[in-house]
Amino acid sequence: MSTTADYEALATAAARDLEEATAQEILQWAADTFGKRFCVTSSMEDAVVAHLASSVLPGVDVVFLDTGYHFAETIGTRDAVAATMPVNVITLTPKLTVAEQDAQYGPNLHDRDPDLCCSLRKVEPLNRGLGAYDAWATGLRRDESPTRANTPVVAWDAKRRKVKLAPIARWTQDDVDAYVQANGVLLNPLLWEGYTSIGCSPLSCTAKPGEGEKGRAGRWAGSGKTECGIHL
Ligand code: SF4
Repeated sequence: MSTTADYEALATAAARDLEEATAQEILQWAADTFGKRFCVTSSMEDAVVAHLASSVLPGVDVVFLDTGYHFAETIGTRDAVAATMPVNVITLTPKLTVAEQDAQYGPNLHDRDPDLCCSLRKVEPLNRGLGAYDAWATGLRRDESPTRANTPVVAWDAKRRKVKLAPIARWTQDDVDAYVQANGVLLNPLLWEGYTSIGCSPLSCTAKPGEGEKGRAGRWAGSGKTECGIHL
């Protein structure tokens, strides 16, 4: 039985050893090291990391946070992933329904205190759900935003005491597009409607980027908030 100290050392070594590795090699390392104690998280903007992970670990758990505020297209993408890919989709939900949150905190908390809303509807459910795992992978990429520019391919997630992987950290949007095209990977249909980053449906949380903007520019636009808190 490995201890968290072992895993921290393992993550530090892997970050160095796997920096130049392919996404598949990084995921293969995770599959060999953690087996079923490893999962992938997906926002269902696309199924790229789920597809990569399923190629090295068929049946891999793909964790989705259902905040209660998603676009119908995002829920549809989740259902399509579950129905067509060799993965095990696990949907995590907040402790409070949207109606219960409205009753307790007032309506439209996302407009008044998005950090609290994200904490209740994303961060807490993820922290709870990750209890079943020793390692988790995300789709973070260095080219997505300045706050993600230094994302390591493997890291020690000290807050959760897990190994955290970003197997496509070094990929560009062109790399993602090429992988999607070559492998017929499922995409959220909102990407064809002008969205470039897809989160919850309130306009204050996800908007189409403005002229000349790209990537995550439409997320919590104008608020100064750039991350939901999962990756901070
Ligand atoms: S993205 Fe918006 S609606 Fe979703 S949890 Fe965060 S603040 Fe709430």
